[in-house]
Amino acid sequence: MGAISRCGKNSGMIGAWWKGLGGAGLGLNGDWIRPLGTRSCAKDERSGFAPEVEGGAHEGAMRRRMRGLGVAMAAITALAGTAPLSGQRGPGSAGPVAETHRLELGERSLQVDFAAGDLDLGTGSVLAHVQKAAQAVVAYYGKFPVEARVLIVPVAGQDGVLQGTTWGGVRGWQGFTRMRIGQHTTQQELDEDWMMTHELVHMAFPTMPDDQHWIEEGLSTYVEPVARVQTGELKAEAIWRDMARDMPKGEPREGDQGIDHTHTWGRTYWGGALFCLVADVAIRRETHNQKGLQDALRAIVERGGTINHDWDLPRALEVGDEATGTQVLMQQYAAWKDKAVTVDLEKLWAELGVKWGKGGSVELVEGAREAGIRRGITEKR
Ligand SMILES: [Zn+2]
Repeated sequence: MGAISRCGKNSGMIGAWWKGLGGAGLGLNGDWIRPLGTRSCAKDERSGFAPEVEGGAHEGAMRRRMRGLGVAMAAITALAGTAPLSGQRGPGSAGPVAETHRLELGERSLQVDFAAGDLDLGTGSVLAHVQKAAQAVVAYYGKFPVEARVLIVPVAGQDGVLQGTTWGGVRGWQGFTRMRIGQHTTQQELDEDWMMTHELVHMAFPTMPDDQHWIEEGLSTYVEPVARVQTGELKAEAIWRDMARDMPKGEPREGDQGIDHTHTWGRTYWGGALFCLVADVAIRRETHNQKGLQDALRAIVERGGTINHDWDLPRALEVGDEATGTQVLMQQYAAWKDKAVTVDLEKLWAELGVKWGKGGSVELVEGAREAGIRRGITEKR
């Protein structure tokens, strides 16, 4: 398994964490971000980024040092947050499992375990939530990418889906996701949760070197809502509204040195998502809307590019380009990696027919020049 990373597409709290770890500004790129190769997501500051969970500045510094000394991963994991749950080491062992279920997803299966603890809703609702997320992944990729385990860890006294972390290659599982869910979580909170799907999407792409972590977060950020439209869980209007609102967060700011070298929260999550959106549209333009990013990503999974394998980014992009018969991914990566590329989003929304309406709503304009491309992106297939 690899390193540690954190997913937080909805807020800016990563900034604090970033700074706490010494961040990109101090020239620590590549070393601090993922000492151990995991992806961890937190929806807000209450949860995933609290020092007791994933480590503040002090732990960050220690982790860097430990990596340098080649200290065993188990010790680092204990430091990083599983220890308070159980006293045991390693991400796969967070205390005794109270309940086990197996979801059959075509040729794959997903084991869903519940750690001891109370959930007001009962385990059935949470299990259904995991199943819905897994089905979104199946809808987008055509199959579930790996043999996987999800561990639900109830958190006493809290509510909401608090944090998700995903690893590749843990204790015999190709993919492993740990979700911390508050005891008092409501059905509405489950229904509004993006994190479960985001985490499972991480399983469908190979583990990248630190400088290309943006593509891992960008893909999960972009694919999660699209996949949930494909299953009918979300309305297309809702996800285009969110993209119109959030994609500007991914644009380069002053001092940006290209997406491989600017490891800010905005560039990692939304810059990565922007890369995916722009590539998706470009592939569809070149192929008369016959192929899209989805075809590229399915091909990468087919070729074995899943979370339990370490690839470099060009290898994945070449496979993707081959599948669409274009050079969009490689060319766009070459253009974006070392320098700031600003996307004219207003122009893009106009072409796709995404128009702001009243009260923060979005109107989809079916007569727009590239409305077909917009529809193609979310079409069930
Ligand atoms: Zn993530």
